[in-house]
Amino acid sequence: MIKVKKGVSPEYLLGDTVKKRIQKALKEKNNHDFQTYYYGNKKEVKPILKTIYHDKCCYCERNTEGGVELQIEHFRPKKTPKECNDFDNHFGYYWLGYEWDNLLLSCSTCNKYKGNSFPIEDENKRVNEPILNKNGELIIETCKSKNPPLINEKALLFNPEFDNAFEHFKFESDGFIKSNTQKGKTTIDLLKLNDPPLLTARNRIVNDFVNVFILSLLDYREDLEPKILRRNFKRNFTNIKHRRKRSETHTFFSYWFYANFEIFIINKHEIENIDKEQIIKAYNQFIKGRL
Ligand SMILES: [Zn+2]
Repeated sequence: MIKVKKGVSPEYLLGDTVKKRIQKALKEKNNHDFQTYYYGNKKEVKPILKTIYHDKCCYCERNTEGGVELQIEHFRPKKTPKECNDFDNHFGYYWLGYEWDNLLLSCSTCNKYKGNSFPIEDENKRVNEPILNKNGELIIETCKSKNPPLINEKALLFNPEFDNAFEHFKFESDGFIKSNTQKGKTTIDLLKLNDPPLLTARNRIVNDFVNVFILSLLDYREDLEPKILRRNFKRNFTNIKHRRKRSETHTFFSYWFYANFEIFIINKHEIENIDKEQIIKAYNQFIKGRL
């Protein structure tokens, strides 16, 4: 979800072995047997994607800790897109099956929910065939999502390699993800980004930090010096800020939490109002570097 820099294609995907596979796919179209061995090669492709995506799903930003597997995801599906539903005229984006720009890394859950979907603004703009040179080979520049003709499809699926999550998504204090854009809404629905396990994970991030504030305030009432309370608060705010690291899960949510901290605190019923005021005051001092 948080934007990543993809970088240039691994040499392997540009080499003769994969070129032959691409030529085979161009002939066989929907009958082609796409093999992970090539597009998700365990030595030459998948480790690079894992580094780029920090071992997380490109959509939901889960890692493998909960037993979720990370898989190679084709942004444009190899088979006929579900929304197109025209199996006679669209054989899938078979020509992008081994294309670096089309390969993302997603968790098995998002991959399953997405399936062969690829929603676009207007079905009449869907690209049905690849653009080939006079030798019958792919023109690589026309295989990039950011270039015509693919860009003209106006995909309604969020792409973390060039879309900005802050433009399409926001969170409510209960961890629900929402959107004001058609692309954002479609992505949330398609990938079920409000699934209970994701909501639980987001709420856990908030609650773990909130509990530190609550415990610090309890200690303070017992016998803690004000300067120790300030120090504890400062440490907790620093940890919230550092939680936005890309190596952490749910990085985009952590950005949102840190930037909209007050909303999350105001809606916590287990915190008394007087304590909320104190935490929020400390937050405002912290972000100004005055805590
Ligand atoms: Zn996912």
